[in-house]
Amino acid sequence: MLNPKNSIKTFLLFILIPTFSCFNTFAQVPKKIKTIIVDAGHGGSDAGARGEYEGTLHSQEKNITLAISNKLVTELKKQMNGVKIIPTRTSDVFNTPKEKAQFANDNHGDLFVCIHADAVALKTGSRIIGHRTENYTTTRWVGKGKKKKKIVTPHQREVPIIEYFKIPTTRKGTSTLIFAARKTGDKIKALENGDMAFETDDDDSSLNINYDSPEWKANALLYTQNYFKKSYKLGSIIQQEIANMGRPDLGVWQRDKGIWVLQATRMPAVLIETGFVANYEDERYLNSDKGQQEIAEAIAKALIKYKDQVENPRSVNNADTLSASSK
Ligand SMILES: [Zn+2]
Repeated sequence: MLNPKNSIKTFLLFILIPTFSCFNTFAQVPKKIKTIIVDAGHGGSDAGARGEYEGTLHSQEKNITLAISNKLVTELKKQMNGVKIIPTRTSDVFNTPKEKAQFANDNHGDLFVCIHADAVALKTGSRIIGHRTENYTTTRWVGKGKKKKKIVTPHQREVPIIEYFKIPTTRKGTSTLIFAARKTGDKIKALENGDMAFETDDDDSSLNINYDSPEWKANALLYTQNYFKKSYKLGSIIQQEIANMGRPDLGVWQRDKGIWVLQATRMPAVLIETGFVANYEDERYLNSDKGQQEIAEAIAKALIKYKDQVENPRSVNNADTLSASSK
């Protein structure tokens, strides 16, 4: 005879096994990618990162993101038949990250791709650019008592003229950020201690997210359950394409807070830091037609790959099996 504890276990198994397998079946139903939202970061009054180092082109992130976004939208429309490609902006206008997230949700996006360029705090250097003559005097006293006399002697000396300048960063390359949706203090510290500078101008300061609010917790849970893995997968494919084109691949980064556009969108979302405005070569690359086109094409390739893998999971498995057996 079954004891009561065992029968409870058995009962739970009967309940749980079908429940889990039901979830499994549900999870395996491929979701079609019908709409992709492309977001050109910043815009209008919000310039984003600016070239500030010595020798900079003085470019503004908002223009770079718009140029790459426009090219990406063109590529996707050309290459992804039947998929709606919707940009958040096609001109120099400002929308808050909240509005952008809302826009993506209202348009029922299946993927949200944000285009940005990295900012980084620059070190200041100094150099001597010449000398100038400075007049000064020394004073001494001679004699004693009533004969005591003050002697002032004029002198001249050469003083260096020092010029200060911002040193460009040596960091260059592309990274992808995804929202981590959980509190991992160590991870945040690791990111903050690195050279990596994140979007702080628009995505942090203006938004007072209450991380203890039920709304935030519900959002975070929803994201973790539904979108985290997919965002990570998409980020990884993008970085692979970046590496394939020969650009430094700085990996996929997770961030717990502050990326409103990633956290508030009800779809997998990635934020691509295409390059460093504060790096000499990257700034030129990001401002060139060639660089913008290459990056747009790499991202387009990644999105096509991702779509194929999500919608045809079997063909991916088959391809893996084939390549494994052909070795
Ligand atoms: Zn940015």
